[in-house]
Amino acid sequence: MVVVCAAFGSASLLSGTGVALPTNALPLRPVKGQMSLAELSGEALADWPQRDNGVYVPQYEDSGLAPRWPSRIWAMGSTYVRGDASTDVTDDGHQRNAQSLEAMNPQAAERLRESAGSQRLLGWAEVRCASLDRLPLAGAVPDNSALLQLKGTRRRYLPSLADTPREPGLYMLSALGSRGITLAHWCARLIASQIQGESFDADPDLVAAVDPARFAWRQARRSST
Ligand SMILES: Cc1cc2nc3c(=O)[nH]c(=O)nc-3n(C[C@H](O)[C@H](O)[C@H](O)COP(=O)(O)OP(=O)(O)OC[C@H]3O[C@@H](n4cnc5c(N)ncnc54)[C@H](O)[C@@H]3O)c2cc1C
Repeated sequence: MVVVCAAFGSASLLSGTGVALPTNALPLRPVKGQMSLAELSGEALADWPQRDNGVYVPQYEDSGLAPRWPSRIWAMGSTYVRGDASTDVTDDGHQRNAQSLEAMNPQAAERLRESAGSQRLLGWAEVRCASLDRLPLAGAVPDNSALLQLKGTRRRYLPSLADTPREPGLYMLSALGSRGITLAHWCARLIASQIQGESFDADPDLVAAVDPARFAWRQARRSST
């Protein structure tokens, strides 16, 4: 059994195993996010984290962070740039965070800009992975060739999504978007139950909504062969 959990890298990882899935059968999209942060040397500029277009954390202390991060910081983020798979920290990303922060806490936005001006501003950027319909892909990987073959040999016949042929022993969990903390556990339990052949207490529509075969199945339904 293999479960591919490589976020945006999942499609290329799967194609490297010889699984023949056209790119539109596994439509993963990158969404870059950049956070701006700096050492907190004085008083925090708010009592609690604030949220609007991004989250401002006025104070965070953690002596266990990697050595490149100060142990007491403030942070603002993250940006949301669809289609961008780069991970470089940019001035433009910092500017976007400053603008978002301006609406929530102008004093903190001023501090962000000052930190940028005095080279004290730090940043972190990574890529979120989203699917075309913004839902996760959690479950068994479809066998696209077998699906198309079924449709070709039995004219206009298409199995249900649940009965779509699968690559034996191959599962995936990807496209958690911005909600990995909330979604990962439920999706992992779903896959574990599928591997074990156990029942899983979930609405079948919900399981279908995250089925990694849904895009291949819809394409097969639309195709004229
Ligand atoms: C800036 C930012 C802010 C976020 N804020 C939040 C938040 O507040 N709340 C929340 O719930 N979520 C947030 N997220 C989203 C959250 O990080 C993701 O939903 C979650 O990390 C997805 O988990 P994952 O295991 O699917 O992918 P990842 O955590 O991205 O892990 C994928 C792993 O696969 C590896 N990989 C990729 N390609 C290959 C390959 N070919 N071979 C081997 N390994 C490979 C990568 O190196 C990585 O280690 C944020 C994301 C970003 C970028």
